[in-house]
Amino acid sequence: MYDKIIDFIREEQGGAKIIPLHEPRFTGDEIGVLRDCIESGFVSSVGEYVEKFEKAIAKFCGAKFAVATVNGTAALHTALKIAGVEPKDEVLTQSLTFVATANAISYTGASPVFIDVDKDSLGLSPEKLENFLRKDSKLKKDGTFNKRTGRRIRACVPMHTFGHPCRIDEIAGICRKYKIIMIEDAAESLGSLYRNKHTGTFGKAGILSFNGNKIITTGGGGMIITNDAIFAKRAKHITTTAKLPHKWDYIHDEIGYNYRLPNINSAIGYAQVKKLKGFLAKKRLLAERYAKFFKSAGIPFISEPKNACSNYWLNSILFENRSKRNSFLEFAHSRGILVRPAWRLMSELDMFKSYQCGNLENTKWLEERIVNLPSSVPK
Ligand SMILES: *Cc1c(COP(=O)(O)O)cnc(C)c1O
Repeated sequence: MYDKIIDFIREEQGGAKIIPLHEPRFTGDEIGVLRDCIESGFVSSVGEYVEKFEKAIAKFCGAKFAVATVNGTAALHTALKIAGVEPKDEVLTQSLTFVATANAISYTGASPVFIDVDKDSLGLSPEKLENFLRKDSKLKKDGTFNKRTGRRIRACVPMHTFGHPCRIDEIAGICRKYKIIMIEDAAESLGSLYRNKHTGTFGKAGILSFNGNKIITTGGGGMIITNDAIFAKRAKHITTTAKLPHKWDYIHDEIGYNYRLPNINSAIGYAQVKKLKGFLAKKRLLAERYAKFFKSAGIPFISEPKNACSNYWLNSILFENRSKRNSFLEFAHSRGILVRPAWRLMSELDMFKSYQCGNLENTKWLEERIVNLPSSVPK
């Protein structure tokens, strides 16, 4: 059976000896903009492509503003800072995520608190979130406070796992009720919609990533999207060393960051974003073919959840238990198919394991079973 799966994946993903999990897809247009960028001399944080790329992403996502950053982690760190997350605050998020989510929370000095995910969406569960807040927190005039630690719960960071939208409108409603600011980690979900609205646009802000393995890439890069003009202005300010505009003087009015995406990366992004619709269509076809194949093989395939349109960034299947999952991982790698398990849970990593967790039954159930399949945009 495993042999048949391996053959199918190899065939769908181009037939090579080694099949990576997700490789970038360049179509040639990147070369022209790169040449233009180099010849202009503007390769760093000033230049026309930064704004062009920002405008294109904002338009694609239906957000009023977009601010480009060096990577998605920096985008999330910046968004949390602007949301007013301070040392000793707490930020609710999921344990089933890439380490960047929990790292960015930690950079602000706040502590993550890990809440369970839903089994169908793989993202933060509104029921579990509300249960936690009802039992373990107290809503006061100036915000919601954790009953156990006494700390303020300032923000919540749901993540759209592997591109599948979580029930983000319900989560947004709960956050509003508890005066918690929602920042969406939409790093994996560019092109994914929930009830026809782009992920990352449901809360105060959302963040995207253009790392080499994401659906479009700038080499490394990220973006903050928001509908709030003041938030966007602050984001641009603190990601460009908080420098005040002046013809020659270097005046900085607070401690800022060197987080601005260079023009040369933005140029690649500007060429890539024009291909995004086509990439999404091809990824959807691939997902449909995987779904059909695994249905006939009797292996559960993760399809887009209800009310959602997923970008199918990474396709995934479920094995019966950890040992079956591991034997498939071993077998596939021995045949050059670079499948991978879900991330080690944040709540089990050394640097985060002392933080508070809700009941993580679904998170643990999924972590033992998930295998991500090679999901590069078919050529
Ligand atoms: C990719 C990713 C990020 C951001 O990663 P960068 O490499 O910093 O761009 C953040 N969160 C999640 C869930 C991701 O998958």
